[in-house]
Amino acid sequence: MKLTIYNTLSRKKEEFIPLHENKVGMYVCGPTVYGDGHLGHARPAITFDILFRYLMHLGYKVRYVRNITDVGHLENDADSGEDKIAKKARLDELEPMEVVQYYTNRYHKAMEMLNVLPPSIEPHASGHIMEQIDFVQKILDAGFAYESEGSVYFDVEEYNKKYNYGKLSGRNVEDMLESTRELDGQSEKRRSVDFALWKKASPEHIMHWKAPWSEGFPGWHMECSAMGTKYLGEQFDIHGGGMDLMFPHHECEIAQSTAALGHETVKYWMHNNMITIGGQKMGKSLGNFITLEQFFTGNHPLLSQAFSPMTVRFFILQAHYRSTVDFSSAALEASEKGLSRLMEGYTRLQKLTASATSSVETAGLRARCEDAMCDDLNTPIVISHLFDALKAINLVHDGKETISAAELDELKAVFKIFIEEILGLKSETEVSTGNEAYKKAIDLLLNMRLEAKQNKDWATSDKIRNELTALGFEIKDTKDGFEWKI
Ligand code: ZN
Repeated sequence: MKLTIYNTLSRKKEEFIPLHENKVGMYVCGPTVYGDGHLGHARPAITFDILFRYLMHLGYKVRYVRNITDVGHLENDADSGEDKIAKKARLDELEPMEVVQYYTNRYHKAMEMLNVLPPSIEPHASGHIMEQIDFVQKILDAGFAYESEGSVYFDVEEYNKKYNYGKLSGRNVEDMLESTRELDGQSEKRRSVDFALWKKASPEHIMHWKAPWSEGFPGWHMECSAMGTKYLGEQFDIHGGGMDLMFPHHECEIAQSTAALGHETVKYWMHNNMITIGGQKMGKSLGNFITLEQFFTGNHPLLSQAFSPMTVRFFILQAHYRSTVDFSSAALEASEKGLSRLMEGYTRLQKLTASATSSVETAGLRARCEDAMCDDLNTPIVISHLFDALKAINLVHDGKETISAAELDELKAVFKIFIEEILGLKSETEVSTGNEAYKKAIDLLLNMRLEAKQNKDWATSDKIRNELTALGFEIKDTKDGFEWKI
């Protein structure tokens, strides 16, 4: 089986062939540390977590770099307006790094709840100012940037004479140059399509560093060119992020890296699609902005109830990462039911008893799941294969079909690999308690209840069941014992 992934740059699925035999370098644009993490933040984190997990499953040694944007990201995503972190710091009378730390902690907490693995390296833009200054200098030396009033801008027109600005997003640079010509001469930029590599800080700007051109700060796109090549080398395998970053962020990153180094740095560009709410883009200004914390507590008018982190994760994985996902409470409720059926089946699987022969057909499940993952990380197909196997599990559980020991072992192994290792789904009990001892303690109590029942000690048996039920446990008697969930 060969892994194929969709390369946004070539606009087609390509076989994944790493640059270095068994090592993979992957860079993903992390969050702009400002404001609360929302569903839109969860999607790239989960998409590239799946890729990270699957590459490791295939045996690659992966260096996964996911940055934290904590400087240079200005209010209107462009070269003007106030720095978002600096503004928040000024309004709340905090050190900018206090703001950064606060949001970074919250982001990490949400990621942990979503069972997103931490990356290998998580560099901060503010911790790599020297590298960014060096990178800007390289672009200036190569003749693709100019200095103006203490700031440095990328010269798109000059660059486009030799290379192709717009190749990733498919935008036509001639049109962009043409439509922006009338604005020329009104700002310190030569063309409004040019973008900042270094900005001179205005007097009220509280985050600034010394550079040859001025006391200032790097342009937003610069961090990813500088940090990606610092940690992964001048050429690396994968660069990912949300589709909303394709232009201008990633387009500018390609231009910067090519201008400075004379060649491109990234072999495969990957982009996850967006999450919409009622068909609309999610945004603070649209009033449909729901934070991850609000999902987990249910505290938002658009939410019918609280949704657990695993439900949110499962909801995202039920769609292919390149499709849009439309959020609604009803859709999340359906995901919650689906996830609970899957996890109950997984628990049930552990308790099945093997027979001498199999009457169910479960062979080939592993290969079908691998095939789906190798086809551009098709998680919804993997999930549908697992649901097919669930039917067999339930029939064996109900005594209508049989399964041999060998097939049972294989089924257990495949469920463990795909549910836990690759899809990263955990039972909610584990999520809320985080330990195995807890589950064993409940099993112990319920086994004592079974013994009491066998001894016709109904008082003890009822007491255990009633008190556990009062604590929120759901207990079901089955032919070979019991099942429980919280
Ligand atoms: Zn980036």
